Amino acid sequence: MKLIPLPAFDDNYIWMLHQGQRAVVIDPGDADVVFEALQRLNLKLMTILVTHHHGDHTAGVGELRQVTGAQVFGPHKERMPEPLTRLAEGETVDVLGTAFTVLEVPGHTAGHIAYVGQPPGQAPILFCGDTLFSAGSGRLFEGTPAQMLQSLTRLSALPDPCRVCCAHEYTASGLVFARAVEPLNQTLITYQAQVQSLREQHLPTLPSRIGLEKAINPFLRTHVPDVLAAIGQFDPGAHDPVGVFAALRTWKNQF
Ligand code: ZN
Ligand code: FE
Repeated sequence: MKLIPLPAFDDNYIWMLHQGQRAVVIDPGDADVVFEALQRLNLKLMTILVTHHHGDHTAGVGELRQVTGAQVFGPHKERMPEPLTRLAEGETVDVLGTAFTVLEVPGHTAGHIAYVGQPPGQAPILFCGDTLFSAGSGRLFEGTPAQMLQSLTRLSALPDPCRVCCAHEYTASGLVFARAVEPLNQTLITYQAQVQSLREQHLPTLPSRIGLEKAINPFLRTHVPDVLAAIGQFDPGAHDPVGVFAALRTWKNQF
């Protein structure tokens, strides 16, 4: 099974999986981007997966379904372009012969879901929408800091080699903030140089890996002493884990 990011709008990725002649896309905000890829690679679209209701993830769904007949799956709790099959925590969806499991990860939106699966002989793959970005995390539009902390904690418990397919190319700007939080983190310094080189060549920095994110992403590291100390400088009133996470999110919003 092949995994490719299709760039859309300014900084979105519509992820595509394909095997033989069959394809699946995740969060198709722009139908034309998907039609172009289907034609170029000579693929038939079987399935559309959606993580949350925002337009940059859903606007292409209706046209793609009409033209290709693809089956659409999305979150159980959100307003979605109908018809679709709604999925809740722990349910699975068949993706080109591999079962992907749904994780409910509220925070960015109230009903946001992620999909995780492991194609035979490959590392697992996570489609996390706007919940987790490389070196960052999604803004809290509908959920609470407690929900987002729990969602990110669940994602960071996935296996280290798991490929992290985020829906936006935000890595370089996330890293500027991550460096401000942890100026001495050597893995972060090395990764920032790699990311800069990829972006100079106009290449995607994604997918990331869970193991890498655990080493560099401040939003997965609010329990690490250096990160805690930095957040304490920003907001001396932050103590419990949720308060610390909320302070980090506020710091990023103001950065
Ligand atoms: Zn969004
Ligand atoms: Fe988005």
